[in-house]
Amino acid sequence: MLDTPLKTCPFCNRPVRMIEWPTLQLFFAWCQRCEASGPRKRTETEAVVAWNSLTTPAPAHAATEEV
Ligand SMILES: [Zn+2]
Repeated sequence: MLDTPLKTCPFCNRPVRMIEWPTLQLFFAWCQRCEASGPRKRTETEAVVAWNSLTTPAPAHAATEEV
C-alpha cells in the first residue's frame, strides 16, 4: 500500500482512481466524473505524486495565456 493517498480531483473535487496499464507499464490517476487524468508514470508512486501536484485547476493551455 502507498503512504500517500490520492487527492480528490482538482477539477470536480471527486475521488479519483489509480489506473494501471500493465501491458505498457503505466500508471495514472483518472477521474470517472470529469475524465481528467494525471500524468502517465512508470510507477504507482510517481503517478500519485504527479497527480497530487495538480492542485490548481488549470487548463493545459492556460500557461501560455498570460495577460
Ligand atoms: Zn474530476
